Amino acid sequence: MTSTPGLKNLVLLGLGHAHVQVLRGLAHSRPADLNLTVIAPRPLAVYSGMVPGFVAGHYTAEQCRIPLDALLARSGARTIAGSAIGIDAETRTVALASGEAVPWDWLSVNTGPIMDRDLLEVRMPGARRHALFVRPIDAFVQLWPQVAEMAASRPIHLAVVGAGAAGVELAMAASHALQGSGMPQGSHVSLVTGANRPRPSTPRRCRPACSVPCAA
Ligand SMILES: Cc1cc2nc3c(=O)[nH]c(=O)nc-3n(C[C@H](O)[C@H](O)[C@H](O)COP(=O)(O)OP(=O)(O)OC[C@H]3O[C@@H](n4cnc5c(N)ncnc54)[C@H](O)[C@@H]3O)c2cc1C
Repeated sequence: MTSTPGLKNLVLLGLGHAHVQVLRGLAHSRPADLNLTVIAPRPLAVYSGMVPGFVAGHYTAEQCRIPLDALLARSGARTIAGSAIGIDAETRTVALASGEAVPWDWLSVNTGPIMDRDLLEVRMPGARRHALFVRPIDAFVQLWPQVAEMAASRPIHLAVVGAGAAGVELAMAASHALQGSGMPQGSHVSLVTGANRPRPSTPRRCRPACSVPCAA
C-alpha cells in the first residue's frame, strides 16, 4: 500500500474495545481527507465477559463473538486480516507477518494483553505443551470444546493457573461444566493461586475451597 498525497493515513492496529468505539465514531462522521486502515487477525471481537459463561455451557461460542464486518464497512475502513510483528517509527510503517508494510501518519495500537509463552515456559516448564492459554481468547474459545470432550469420556483433573478475577471465574465455570449432566463423576478443578490467595476483594463466597497455593 502506498500513501496518497493530501490524504492522511490513520491505522488502527487491533480490534480491541477502544478501537470498536473509534470505529463507531468514524462510521458516524469521518473527515474527507482520512484514509482509514484496520489491521486485526479477524473482523470480530470475542466478548471476554461471556467466556466463563461459555465454559460453563450457558452460551455458544457464536454468542460470544461480536461480528464487526458491518461496522468496518460503515466506517469506510480498509481491513487487513493479519498480525503485526513490528512497528518502525522512522519509516512510519507497521510490518505484518505476511511481509506487507503498512504506512501510517497516525497509528493507534489496541492489541490487548498478550501472554508471553516463552517466559511462561521458563517459569512453568511444560506449559507450551500441556496448557491451554486463555489468550488469544478466540483461540481459547475454539479449543475449549476439546477439553469438554475429553472430560465427557473420562474424569479429568483441571488446574486453572492464576487467580485473578478471570481465573476465579473460569475455575468456577469449568467446575460447573464438569459436574454437568452426562459428565462422568470424579472430575475436579484446582485453582493455582501463586503466592497469594484469591484477592482480598474477591467475595468470600466466591473463593473456591479447592484452591491450591503454589509458588509461581
Ligand atoms: C475469561 C476472561 C473474562 C473476563 N471478564 C471480564 C469482565 O467481565 N469485565 C472486564 O472488564 N474485563 C474482563 N476481562 C478482561 C478483558 O478481557 C480485558 O481487559 C480486555 O479484553 C482488554 O481489552 P483490549 O481492548 O485491550 O484488548 P482485546 O479485547 O484483547 O483485543 C485485542 C485485539 O487486538 C488483536 N491483536 C492482538 N495481537 C495483534 C497483532 N499482533 N496484530 C494485530 N492485531 C492484534 C486481537 O485479535 C484483538 O482483536 C476478562 C478476561 C478474561 C480472560
